[in-house]
Formats: sequence, structure tokens, C-alpha cells
Amino acid sequence: MTTLSRFYKYAALAPMVAMVMSCSVSAEEYLVTDQAAYNEAVEKVRAGDVIKLANGTWDNFEILFQGKGKKDNLIRLTAETKGEVILSGQSNLRMAGEYLEVSGLVFKNGHTPTSEVIAFRNGKDLANNSRITEVVVDNYNNPERYETDFWVMMYGKNNRFDHNHLVGKRNKGVTMAVRMNTPDSQENYHQIDHNYFGPRPILGSNGGETLRIGTSHHSRKNSFTTVENNYFDRADGELEIISSKSAGNKILNNTFFESRGTLTMRHGNDTLVEGNVFFGNDVDHTGGVRVINARQTVRGNYMEGLKGTRFGGAFVVMNGVPNGPINRYDPVIDSLIENNSLINSDNLQLGAGSDEERSAPPSNTVFENNLIYNEDGRDVFTVYDDMSGILFDGNVLGSMDPPEFTTGFVHEHLKMSRAENGLMYPQAGIDAGASRDLTVTAKDVTGVSWYPKTEPTIEFQSGKTISVSSDEGALFSAVQSAEAGDTLSLSAGDYVVGKFLKVDKPLTFKANGNVNLSFERSTLFEILDGGSLQLMGLNISGKDAPDYKGNSVIRTSPYAMLQNYRLEVIDCNFEDLDINQSFNVVSAAKGTFADNILIKNSNFETVSGAILKLDTETEDYGIYNAEYLTIENSNFKDVEGALVDYYRGGRDESTFGPHFNMTDSKLTNVGNGPRNKSKASVHLHGVQVTNISENTFEKSTPFLVTHTVSEPKTKIFKNKFVDTAAPRVVELNSGLEPTAMIEDNEGLAP
Ligand code: CA
Repeated sequence: MTTLSRFYKYAALAPMVAMVMSCSVSAEEYLVTDQAAYNEAVEKVRAGDVIKLANGTWDNFEILFQGKGKKDNLIRLTAETKGEVILSGQSNLRMAGEYLEVSGLVFKNGHTPTSEVIAFRNGKDLANNSRITEVVVDNYNNPERYETDFWVMMYGKNNRFDHNHLVGKRNKGVTMAVRMNTPDSQENYHQIDHNYFGPRPILGSNGGETLRIGTSHHSRKNSFTTVENNYFDRADGELEIISSKSAGNKILNNTFFESRGTLTMRHGNDTLVEGNVFFGNDVDHTGGVRVINARQTVRGNYMEGLKGTRFGGAFVVMNGVPNGPINRYDPVIDSLIENNSLINSDNLQLGAGSDEERSAPPSNTVFENNLIYNEDGRDVFTVYDDMSGILFDGNVLGSMDPPEFTTGFVHEHLKMSRAENGLMYPQAGIDAGASRDLTVTAKDVTGVSWYPKTEPTIEFQSGKTISVSSDEGALFSAVQSAEAGDTLSLSAGDYVVGKFLKVDKPLTFKANGNVNLSFERSTLFEILDGGSLQLMGLNISGKDAPDYKGNSVIRTSPYAMLQNYRLEVIDCNFEDLDINQSFNVVSAAKGTFADNILIKNSNFETVSGAILKLDTETEDYGIYNAEYLTIENSNFKDVEGALVDYYRGGRDESTFGPHFNMTDSKLTNVGNGPRNKSKASVHLHGVQVTNISENTFEKSTPFLVTHTVSEPKTKIFKNKFVDTAAPRVVELNSGLEPTAMIEDNEGLAP
């Protein structure tokens, strides 16, 4: 380590040094109260000076922090009181020069007018030897979900980004990136440490990475960036949490808590991934490390409870393209994978992605002293190609017999127990797996001490219960005055609702007795940004809806929604939704995204449209309307449209979903209406995970399932088909044989 990088690594000492040194150069402190005063001060600052922004909200402030400090005399920009200076509206920060430090600021309630909230540059002038510490960026999002911007872009060299708090990136664009677009930003020796990367919800599209280092274009150049002791808390955006796209990086001792996706060594050689801890807690799509390229070292990492599959598995070693172009997968060669622990995790994939193009399996690579333990004894290996280019040695399997494709694994009887550091280890004497000395980076040593790490979602029924009568207008008033998480308990009676019920917070509508709802506008419930809706025990009729086409019981905001919503319909009855054509139960608008839609124990009868319209993202950009759609124990009768039109176009593979799960339900006369374009009772296009089991389909049109990218998982089993044709499964792009599993169904022609 050079003296320079050592200094920045321990730069927490820098302010003290600066104060001592500054006595001799009579450092100035400027407390500024408006933008003009700031601009004046920044013109004057010299090494050792400090500018403090006065406490309060600074609206529409595009901060340009430029200057030339000295190694022992930084120029600093900070808050009068850390956490009490709020940058809101259209604000951002550009930093350019030498030996600068920014701390204590909070960006919230707005979004950047440019493509970057924090940039280590001003145009072509870069920042070097500079630091950003204790800065918060909280939900500072462009209101257009698919408009791209970035929160932190590091340029220059020898910069440090530490103890920052980044939470709630909801629009498209990587949260943070290290840029290498000119030689002045390559071989940069940046240090990224002790940051809190707080929850980033599922984007439902490519472009939701949390941290990217480099881009494919410069990926064979060295970045020499160190990423250590950070906490990734539910960093779910997309398939890649960290995407290392450059050479010579170190990714050390970070914690990944219930984060969907993987740490991916996407491009670039000579990177070290060591001592990282992944806690999946059995959350869907939680993954570990994906290895690609040459001379990589993956050592001493700990993975537990990871459920990810395919490229998103707990441990994935890819196949590569021999002598391929720079933006494709390079083969894994000369790499070392040792002393990793894989505990109760689902998938270890070797040679993943093997196909005609990715034809080079790993070579000259060592896989040794790894520990694999699953209490249920499942087989974790999937081997896609010839693995003779990997030397396997000294690996310990705790619960399954050695795999057949190689030697180098021994089955030991392991007694696992949880050590004081929170990790599972076998009995003494077994040395395979992660080090017993591993210190897990805890959430509370990351980010800042003065800003709370709050939970991202407010659960249904977590607030108070409000009784509502059927008197005219009472329900509307109750919705307006309710707070997030409240339950509206509707007394028995007939409710005729004359206004849209606009839901802009999580609310539950629960029947207390026999509750009958009808409505006089084109929709009953409209879910707005920030809203989520739970319906329990209601009888809903469309009989009083306007006699026009296109009514819905529930629809989302016609404007783009940044916040993902949840919708649950439990123990409800819907009827008479046929006053005119195309009356849907749920209509999702473009630019809106549901984390979860659940329909359970409910009945739907006489519907002139679809039950769920989730097909508004028609440009084939890989965007869709809902991550999970689950239907349980429900009946659908005389529905002219489809039960669901669920559409995810495009061919990229960077999203987890959509998911569709339907069980124990009955469809009778569904999909036969003249305006049902797909002519299907269940229309799934580009859905990644489908499970349809133990349902009955009667006098309904067949399913139409279209697979758009390779390897979607579709299972249709143990259903009963009566006067209903067999499901149609189409492989749109892969050219492969149909991959759907259609088994044990009754009433299908063999
Ligand atoms: Ca991506």
C-alpha cells in the first residue's frame, strides 16, 4: 500500500491533523447562510479552510465545491450541524480539485436536475485525493421511474467515499459507480468503505445495480478500487448488486443482508473477493458470488440461506466466450476459489451459461477447502460443462455424498453451531470453509450515527383501526384522514361510493359484518404513489358504475409511480362487472410496479373484461407491471377477458420476475369473450417463474405461455381440464424445445 492510499484509508484522522497544521496558516471558517455567500466563500478558500452551510433547508442548490487543498490541509465543506442541512428540490453536488472533503449533508425531498446527485467532477475537471463522508441521500429520485440518473459517480484518483447513507433509489440507474472513462480516472485506488447501502426496491428492469466499478468498454484496465466493510441491506434492484467491470479491485468484508442478486465479477481480471458475508434468510433470489474472467481470487466468503437460482445462485462459475469481444463473458482461467462456506444455500453452478457461444469452461483454476453444508441434504451442484479444468481438492461436504463429476470432495459428519460472530462453523478439526476469525461488518458501524436506518415499508394493519359507517361520504372522509398502516373497519350495510377512493398510503378495508360496496365513478379504488391496498371480506358490485367501456374496480395512478405498491384481495366477492365492455377488476397503468399482488379465498362472477390487466409495458424494454402475482383458492366464473394478461417483453436477463403462482382455484367459462385479444384464459408473456397447480379449468380458453428468454421456469401440474384445450407454450426467441414442465394433469389429450 502506498503512503497516499494509507493516508486516505485512515483519513478519519485527517481533520485533527488539519486543525493542528492550520494554526500556522490561519485557516478561515466561513459559515454561510445563502447560496450567494457560499459562492463568495468558495472563491476564497485556501488549504485548511472550512465552509459550513447554515442549518436549514437549502432548496435548488447546485453546489460546486472547487479548490486546491493540501495533503495535511484539506479544504472542507460541512454542515453547521451534521444532519441539519437539507439539500432539497433540484440540488446536487459537484466536487473538483485536490484534497477536498465534504461531510454532514442530507439530500432528500427532490432529485438532481442533472444525471448525478454527487459527482467527483465538474465537467472535465476531476476531484483527486478527496473525500465524501457522512452524507445522506434518501429517496432523492426523479419522479419518472424509468428516467435514468445516478446518485454517486466517482471520477479522478485516490478518492474516498465512506460512512455515507444511501437509501431508497427507486428510479432507473445504478446507485453508485466508479467511472474509468479517461486515463485520469483509471488506476484510481479509490476507497469505498463503511457505507450503508440501504434498501433499494426491485426496479423491474435492467439498470438497478447498487454499485458498479467501471464499464465493459474500459474493463480490461485496472481500477484498483477497494470496497470494504460496507453493509448492503436488501439491495434488491436487479440481478447484480455489485457489478465489478474492471481489473484489480478488492471487495472485502462487506455484509449482504437479504439482498436479491449477486456480487458479480462481470468484467476485468485480477480481482480479490474475500471475507464477504451473505445472509439470505431464505428470501427469493438472494445470491452470492458470480465468477467470470481471469486470475480472480474468491476466498473466505460466507454464504448462508441463499435461494437464488441460475446466474443468481449462491456460487456461480461461468463459462466464457473464447477470444470474445470485450462486452461478452471472458472465460474463467487461472483463478483460485478457496475456503468459502456455503451453508443452507440452494445453488452452486459450474460452467453456467454454457452454450454455443459461451463454449469455454473454466481452466487452470483451483477450487479447494470449501465447505458446503445443507441440513436437508439437498444436492447443490449443477454442472453445465466439462469441469476438468478445475482442480478440486480438500472440499468438505456436510450433508450430501460427493458429486460424480469430480473428486476432491469428502463427505464428513458435521456438527454445525453458530459462533459468537453470528456465523455457522463445524466442529473443531475441520478447517474447510470461512475463517473462524471473520469479523462480520455490522449495520451500525456503517453509514452515519445521526440518521435513522428505518424500515422501508409500512405493513398492512400495523396502525390503528377506524370504524366506518355506511352513511354517505363517511368512507371517503375516513380514507382521507387515515394514516399509513391503518385499518378501516366497515360496519355492515350497503355503501354507494360517489367519489374515487384515492389510496396514497398502505390501507386496509375490512368488513365488519355483511358489507356491500358499489361505486358510481369509473373506478372504486385508485392506488397513488406511496399507496398499497388490502381488501378483506368485502362484496363489491359493478352495478352502479357508469355505462361506458373500460371501468375498473381497482386501478393504479395514471402517472408514473416511483414507489412499488402491494395489493391483497382476501375473502372478497366481486359481481356484476358487466355494465359495459372491458370492465376489469384490476388495471395497472404504465410506469407502475407492484411488488406483490395476492388474490386469496375470493370469488369473481360476471366480468366483461379481465381480472388482472398487467400488460401496459409494451415497448419490450424488459419492463413489466408486477413482480409477484399469486392466486390461491379462488373462483372465476363467466369472465369474458383473461384471468390475467401479464406481459414482460424484451430479451435481457437482468430481472428476477415476473412470477406467477396459481393454486387450488377454479376457472369456469373464462376467456371466451369477443374482445379478449390473446384468446387465452391465462396469458403469460415473458414471465420468468410460473407455477400453476391443483386448479380446475372448465369451458375456458387455453393458456398462452410465451417464453421470451432462455430457461424460464414454467410448471403446470396436477390440474384438471374440462372442456378446455391444452396449454400453448411458445418459445419466442430461444429456438429451443419447449421447456415447460406440464405433468400429471387430468383431462388433457396425451
Ligand atoms: Ca444490469
